[in-house]
Amino acid sequence: MEISEIPVKDYQRVARAVDPDSGLHAFIAVHDTTLGASLGGLRMWPYENEGEALLDAKRLARGMTYKSAIARTGVGGGKAVIWGDPKVVKSEQLYLAMGRFIDAFDGAYITAEDVNTTIADLEMIRRATTRVTGLSPEMGGSGNPSPLTAHGVFLGIGAALQWVHGDADLQGRRVAVQGVGAVGSALVQELVAAGAEVLVADKRAESVEAVVREFGVTPVTDREIYSLELDVFAPCALGAVINDDTVPKLRCKIVAGSANNVLLDPRHGLALRERGILYAPDYVINAGGIINVSAELLEGGYDRDTVMERVARIPQSLEQLWTIARAREIPTSDAADCLAEEILCAARMARG
Ligand code: NAD
Repeated sequence: MEISEIPVKDYQRVARAVDPDSGLHAFIAVHDTTLGASLGGLRMWPYENEGEALLDAKRLARGMTYKSAIARTGVGGGKAVIWGDPKVVKSEQLYLAMGRFIDAFDGAYITAEDVNTTIADLEMIRRATTRVTGLSPEMGGSGNPSPLTAHGVFLGIGAALQWVHGDADLQGRRVAVQGVGAVGSALVQELVAAGAEVLVADKRAESVEAVVREFGVTPVTDREIYSLELDVFAPCALGAVINDDTVPKLRCKIVAGSANNVLLDPRHGLALRERGILYAPDYVINAGGIINVSAELLEGGYDRDTVMERVARIPQSLEQLWTIARAREIPTSDAADCLAEEILCAARMARG
């Protein structure tokens, strides 16, 4: 396997691994370890070209630094991507090679599950490196993070209602959840239990049917979801759903969901602000997953109570950045970046 370093300004270490024997072509980007070893998932994707794969690794690694800074997980930000089609390249050999690549970072990068990688894949990687989190509880890991992510989003929605209406009570509030997969369905359950009127959309009809049957929620089409009169629009499927097409259609007061990269472009944060819609920045409200997995690295090991305490702090983080946004008259998405930068800056100064 050939590992080559790629110097990138403002990143601690970025490297490429090419292993002809296993077909591995991967990148690891360690953005920042001021707050601890970098932790972020391993994504597999059939990128158009190598540049796109590298760009994704860098962008995602930086996002992890900010997410963990605000969630106070005690870890830094990093990410790994394998360039390839999961239906074609996945093999034991490939994951063992990936494990060796991760190990070459001497602990500066720790991996986890992400798009197109599974716990079974992580178990193979674990045979080549100890720098793996998110394994099954039977393997000593913290298991499925989705319920924790959903719980953080649920608490964040309450905080947003409190901010907008001065009342966090969900009773009778209209919430539309786009995407009822692992996170979305767990969120629906919590919302219904709290008395909200919940509407759901998913491109998979059977997923919609399952939550309609179980929780008595109302199905809507993915097209109409944007223009519904709502208290909260909760995107829990794809990124980039807040864009030039959708912002003018929105008739909600709050956008708060689990999906990553909800804004197509940073300027859409401003577009929401101009429409008077409160946005709960994605990487702040969806931090439950990273809070859960990073807790495996705590001294003394994973502790569920600590995880619950940290997830319960998500509303405070949101209120903090909404306060910054209001005072500086900036979009809440920009305020999140400012807050993360300030936390990192303070940590760097404290270190001297
Ligand atoms: P998932 O794959 O289990 O669920 C996603 C759901 O969205 C699926 O049911 C899918 O059919 C649906 N979907 C896809 N495209 C759609 C469309 N155009 N319209 C409507 N529905 C559509 O994924 P998940 O783990 O529930 O994650 C959901 C989102 O939250 C993702 O953006 C993910 O990156 C983000 N996220 C997840 C976690 C976690 O702990 N799982 C943590 C942080 C962020």
